[in-house]
Amino acid sequence: MILVSACLSGVECRYNGTAFPCVGLAELVSSGKAIAVCPEVLGGLEVPRLPAEIVEFRVRTSQGEDVTDAYQAGAAAALRIALENGCKSAVLKARSPSCGSGRIYDGSFSGRLIDGDGLLAGLLKQAGITVYTEEEYAVRIEKSGGEFE
Ligand code: SF4
Repeated sequence: MILVSACLSGVECRYNGTAFPCVGLAELVSSGKAIAVCPEVLGGLEVPRLPAEIVEFRVRTSQGEDVTDAYQAGAAAALRIALENGCKSAVLKARSPSCGSGRIYDGSFSGRLIDGDGLLAGLLKQAGITVYTEEEYAVRIEKSGGEFE
């Protein structure tokens, strides 16, 4: 089973109320090979919501509100779902403070990136689940001729 960011499978759960559909992921979910989660919605956040970034180990909205607790609760809930479903890999939305893997926004809301993981991506990695961004997923699919594990 593969865990995927819900917004990549077509769910309109991003902070601005949109989805970010990634080719093939909705089909993986509908065929039962993947399970879609949005950690921020699981954490009780609304759609739409203010954008948030990680600043010195806290998650803050663009207006400065500390929303760390909701982000941590949502990431923990999504991790539980991944473990309960035996997920070995995940395809998560790049650069998000929850789902980003390897590179995330630097907390200045200026579009600058730094090395780091979103809260969910970090928890999944600690649990031994391999995390790909949707960009890495697309490269793997292209190279393998359509197969993904
Ligand atoms: Fe997509 Fe993850 Fe953000 Fe939810 S938390 S909207 S799944 S990037």
